[in-house]
Amino acid sequence: MAIINCPGCSKRVSDKAGACDHCGFLLSGQDTDSLARQAQIQRKQLLNKLTSQQMTAMLLFVVGIAAAFYDWAEEGAMPNFLVDTMFTPSVLKIIGFSIMGLGLAWYMITRGRIYNLKRKR
Ligand SMILES: [Zn+2]
Repeated sequence: MAIINCPGCSKRVSDKAGACDHCGFLLSGQDTDSLARQAQIQRKQLLNKLTSQQMTAMLLFVVGIAAAFYDWAEEGAMPNFLVDTMFTPSVLKIIGFSIMGLGLAWYMITRGRIYNLKRKR
């Protein structure tokens, strides 16, 4: 019995286990080649998923900006827009900034995960 890295999630699992405890990746009855191939496929799928998540996060960020500065754009009061935003919070601004923050955080997390995934290869 040996400890191997799960091809699905890269966590340590026993090679005698039928499936990975962490992600459910099927380990039994597979030779090293097909395990490696499956890992490659899973990794590619995850990368695709993360890339589209990154796009969504970016879109969310842009929507947040649009919502947060919608009032300001309506008023056309450019020089004081920051002061204006700080001191006259509206529901739209609060929601807008929340979405913006969420989008940015999500984007950063997804970026980090893509970076890790690519480095592991
Ligand atoms: Zn796993």
